Formats: sequence, structure tokens, C-alpha cells
Amino acid sequence: MLKENLIKVKEHIAEACRRAGRNPEEVTLVAVSKTKPLSDIEELIGAGQMDYGENYVQELCQKYDQVSRPVRWHMIGHLQTNKVRNIIDKTVLIHSVDSVHLASRIEKEAARKDIKVDILLQVNVAGEETKFGLSDEQVTAMVDEIRHFPHIHICGLMTSAPYVEDPEENRCYFQKLHQLFVDIGRKNIDNVDMNVLSMGMTSDYEVAIEEGATMVRVGTGIFGARNYNRA
Ligand SMILES: *Cc1c(COP(=O)(O)O)cnc(C)c1O
Repeated sequence: MLKENLIKVKEHIAEACRRAGRNPEEVTLVAVSKTKPLSDIEELIGAGQMDYGENYVQELCQKYDQVSRPVRWHMIGHLQTNKVRNIIDKTVLIHSVDSVHLASRIEKEAARKDIKVDILLQVNVAGEETKFGLSDEQVTAMVDEIRHFPHIHICGLMTSAPYVEDPEENRCYFQKLHQLFVDIGRKNIDNVDMNVLSMGMTSDYEVAIEEGATMVRVGTGIFGARNYNRA
């Protein structure tokens, strides 16, 4: 069941790439496994899926410890500074960096462990009041403030677009974030690479890919609906 879902999502990714004249290998599928049991992850590992996204530090750490073989963990949820230490050497990418305060803590903990941490800056592209993330102006200011942090590598941008019935409604936001990604990339700033554009979820990843996403975060489309009461 999960394998079939995975194959279907990958087919849709390939079709979206074809429509956009892109190579499907440019797009990484992150399977968002929050609230889902380890057995689901194990099944997908068997199908070759190696990138997993989690929103909660405690859940990520538990699954990290229990999984039968190493996979690539992505921190995609809001991260509190006092929890940075717990995940800093467990993730391949932190998608949700949205303040200098948080980046400073990541820098400090990374220095302590003598590692370099890959991060994305989270942008609140639709300016939704209920969502975490930076405005366009704040992104540019933040890049300037943290680009000299020796233990942080800014790899790109991430957004969670609004929940909409029709994914076309989010196309303008994906275009906007892609443009910001290109603009920052063109500045050729030391230690800042715009290689990863993390946007698109179950309801809108195909549109996101058409607009330049290099990483899509799909939960429901692979694992089915989440039951938060059980988690
Ligand atoms: C839960 C979540 C997803 C996956 O959402 P689906 O709609 O289930 O695909 C992607 N990104 C973030 C940041 C999330 O919190």
C-alpha cells in the first residue's frame, strides 16, 4: 500500500518535471513521516525511500535511534532553540530556520560538536499570520547577518504555502519564492548557495515542481491521513 503510494507520487513528480522540461533527478522527495509508526518507515526503506521529514524533535530522535538502518532525516517543523542540541548531528538538513536567534544557537552547538550544519531559511511567502517564517526583506537581512557563521551553510529556501483546495492558487507564491532564490543565488555570496528550494506538499507539489522546487515534502500522499490523537 505505502509502496504503491510512493510509486504514484514519484510518477507525478516525473510528469511534473516533464511538463516543466526538468530532469526528475533534480527533485528530492522527502517523505514526511510525522505521527507515523516506524514500521511504515521500514516498509518505505524497503522500497528505496531514504529521505524522511519530521516536525517534532522528540519524535525525530526516537525514530533516529530505532530505525534499522541509517536514513536521511530532515527537520521541517518549527525548532525551539533549547532543542537544537538534540538534533543537530542527527539531521542532514534543517528546513525551518526563521530567526537569527535560532541560527546563532545552531552555530554555537555546531561549533561545540565541530560540525558544519546545512540549513534552509523558512519564508512565509504568503504573509500568513499563523505561520512561522521570514518575509522577503527579512530573508535578505538574515543572509547578511549569518553568512559569516563558520559552522552554518545556507543551502537554500523553504516555504509552507497556504492550505488551498486548488493548487493553482499557490502557483504565484511558488513563483515568488523561486525568484527570491534566484536573486539571492545571483549575488554569489560566500558560504551561501541557493541549491535547495524546498516547497510543495501533498496538495501542491506538482505545481511547486513546475515552478522550480528541488525538494518536495509529501506526507499524506504517501502515508495516508494523520491521526494526531494517536501520536
Ligand atoms: C506536515 C508537513 C508536510 C506534509 O504535509 P502533507 O500535506 O501531509 O503532505 C510538509 N511540510 C511541512 C512543514 C509539514 O509540517
